[in-house]
Amino acid sequence: QATLKSDVKHPYPDWKAGDPVPYAALCQTFSLVELTTKRLEIMAHCALFLRQVLRLTPDDLLPTVLLMVNKLAPDYAGIELGIGESLIMKAIGDTTGRSLAIIKQDQKEIGDLGLVAVKSRSTQRTMFKPKPLTIRGVLKGLLDIASVTGNGAQGRKVDGIKKLLAAADADSTGKVDITKDKGGPSEAKYIVRFLEGKLRLGLAEKSVIVSLAQAVVAHEAAKKGKIPSTADFANGEVILKQVYSELPSYDVIIPAMVEHGIQNLREHCKLRPGVPLKPMLANPTKAITEVLDRFENKNFTCEYKYDGERAQIHYVAKDADGDVSQAASNVSQEVGRGVASIFSRNSEDLSKKYPDILAKLPTWVKDDTKSFVLDCESVAWDVTEKKVLPFQQLMTRKKKDVKIEDVKVKVCVFAFDLLYLNGEAIVGKSLRERRELLHKSFKPIEGEFAFATSMNGQELDEIQTFLDESVKASCEGLMVKMLDGEESGYEPSKRSRNWLKIKKDYLQGIGDSLDLVVLGAYYGKGKRTSVYGAFLLACYNSNTDTYETVCNIGTGFSEAVLEELHGQLSQIVIDRPKPFYAHSSGGQHQPDVWFEPKYVWEVKTADLTLSPRYKAGMKEGVDPSGEKGISLRFPRFIKVRDDKKADEATSSRQVAEMYRKQESVGKSKGPAVDDDF
Ligand code: ATP
Repeated sequence: QATLKSDVKHPYPDWKAGDPVPYAALCQTFSLVELTTKRLEIMAHCALFLRQVLRLTPDDLLPTVLLMVNKLAPDYAGIELGIGESLIMKAIGDTTGRSLAIIKQDQKEIGDLGLVAVKSRSTQRTMFKPKPLTIRGVLKGLLDIASVTGNGAQGRKVDGIKKLLAAADADSTGKVDITKDKGGPSEAKYIVRFLEGKLRLGLAEKSVIVSLAQAVVAHEAAKKGKIPSTADFANGEVILKQVYSELPSYDVIIPAMVEHGIQNLREHCKLRPGVPLKPMLANPTKAITEVLDRFENKNFTCEYKYDGERAQIHYVAKDADGDVSQAASNVSQEVGRGVASIFSRNSEDLSKKYPDILAKLPTWVKDDTKSFVLDCESVAWDVTEKKVLPFQQLMTRKKKDVKIEDVKVKVCVFAFDLLYLNGEAIVGKSLRERRELLHKSFKPIEGEFAFATSMNGQELDEIQTFLDESVKASCEGLMVKMLDGEESGYEPSKRSRNWLKIKKDYLQGIGDSLDLVVLGAYYGKGKRTSVYGAFLLACYNSNTDTYETVCNIGTGFSEAVLEELHGQLSQIVIDRPKPFYAHSSGGQHQPDVWFEPKYVWEVKTADLTLSPRYKAGMKEGVDPSGEKGISLRFPRFIKVRDDKKADEATSSRQVAEMYRKQESVGKSKGPAVDDDF
C-alpha cells in the first residue's frame, strides 16, 4: 500500500484526460503482474493503474476491470465467446500471413497460443501502422465476437478476432523475444489469452477487487488533498467486498462507485431481484461429533439436505401502475401479478428450464409478499407416492426451452433460506429470523412448494435419528447451520464454517465427494474401443490458476454414459495440454487425448493418498518432500455436474484439507492404487 502514496505513479505515461484508455497501458500492467508472484506486488500494480484510469478517464473504469477479470459481462447475462483453439489459430494465421500448419507446429513447440501470436505477429511486416487499440474498443470487439450466432457464425467470429489482432501492436520495437519476460507487454498475447478464457497472470478476481478498492480510496483522498490511512484502505476493501458479494455485477457497482464514492456504496448497491448472488456453501464433515465440536455452546439447526438442483428464485410484484421498479431488467418472466426468474448455483438463468415452477409460483406466494429472493433446491417429485425422487430422475429433464405440457418429471421446490423480502435485503438477520419470515411469507402446497424439513435439537441422539430420517426420505444427509447471532447471517459466495454438511455416504470416508475437471482421456480397450475408456481428472488451484491432476478414472460408467461422454468430449479435443495444466510429464503417464477444461464430474473415492504421479495440492505443503501430490484411491464416477464451471471444481486447498482430515494420515497405506482401469 505504500506504493499508493500520491507521488508513486503507474509507469505508463499519462494519456490525455478524457481520452479512451490505451489497451497498451493495460497490457503493460499485465506484463508487470506476470513477472511477479507476490500478491501484494500484483495488487499494487493493478491499483496504480486503476487509479490512473480513475484520474484520467473514469468512464473506462468498468471496461478496464472487466478485461482484468476476463469477463465480458456478469455471469447471469449468459454472454459467451463460443470459440475454441482452432478458430483462434486460424485467425492468427490469417492476420499474420502464416499457414495454419506452421501455427499448429508453433503451438506444439511453444504450448501457449498467446506466445504463438506474439511470435507470428513479430515476424509480420505491416504496410501501414494500425490505429492503436483502446480498452473500450477491445471490449466492444470481444462483445461483437460473442454476439455472432447462426449460419456461418464461425467464419464471422474468426473475422472479429482478425480485426482485433490486426490492430494489436505485438511489440513497439518489433522484436519481441518470447523466451524473455514471458513475451512482454504484447497486446496480441493478452487478446489471445482473453479469447482462451485464461489470462494466466496469477491475478485472481479477489485481488482485482481489493486493488479496485485501494485505487478508489487513494483517488478520493487525493481529490481532497489527503493521504489515506491504512484503516481507510481496509475500510474500503471491506465495503467493496461486501457489496460485490451481495450484488456481483461490476456493471452496477462501478458506475455507482464513481458517482457516489466508496463510502456511500452500500446505500446505492444493495442486493436486488435480478442480480443473482453467489450462493453460500457448506463445509464437509465426517462425523456428527465433529459438528458438535464446531457448534459447541452455540445454537444450531439441522435441515434435510435435498438432492436436486440449487435454485435461486427472484420475484417482484407489479405495483398499481404495473411497474416492477425494484427489479433488474432480466427478471423477465411474467408470473401472475409479477415477474420472476430462476438462477442456478453459478448464476445461469434457469427460467426456461423450469416454466412449471414459475407457473405455480403465484399459488404459494402469500398476497402481502411483494418481492423476494429465495434460496431453494428443486427436487424431482413422485406424484403418486408423494415423495422425493433421486437426483438421477431430475437429470432426465430437458435443460432448455421446456414446455410445461411436455414435463414428465415433476419438481417440488424445497425452500431453505430467504435473502430478500419486500424491498429489503435480509442477509444480515439471523437464520432464526430469516426462517420465521420465510414461513410467514409463503404457503406450502404438496408437491409444489415446501419448507426444508428442520429440527433444532442439539443432542447427538436427536441428530442421528434426524439423519436416518433424512436418508429414508431420499435425501443426501443433513445440513447443519448456525441458528442465532451474527455468525448465522447469510454469507454469499462463501464456503462457510457456519454451514456444515453431513452426507450419509461419507460418514466413514473423507466427508464428501469431489467435483473434478476432465483434462484428458485414454482410448478404451476390449468392448470400449470406440469410446474413451478412462479419463484424467484434476482439481483447480485458484491461487495459481492451474488445474492439478488428481486421478485416472475408469469406474462407474455404463456403456451408454461412456458413449455420451465421448460425444461431448470429442468436440473439445486439443493438440496438447494447456500451459495451465499441472501434470506429470513422463511418457507413460500421458493420456491419449487432451481436452479444453470444460466438464466437471462428481467423483467418489475410498480415500486420498500421496502419489508422485499427480500434482493436486503439491503447493499446499502436504508432502514434506515436495515431490508428491494427492490422489484419489478407487475413484468412481457419479455424475456430470452441469451446474459447475471448470473453475468451480473442488479446489486444491479443499483436497489438501480433506487429505489432512483423513484419520489415517501418517499411517502407512501401502502403495497408491490410482490406475483404476
Ligand atoms: P454438493 O452439492 O456436491 O454437496 P456443492 O459444492 O454443490 O456440493 P455444498 O455447499 O457442498 O455445495 O452443499 C450444499 C448444496 O446442497 C447446496 O448448493 C444446495 O444445492 C444443496 N442443499 C440441499 N438441501 C439444502 C439445505 N437444506 N440447505 C442448504 N443447501 C441445501
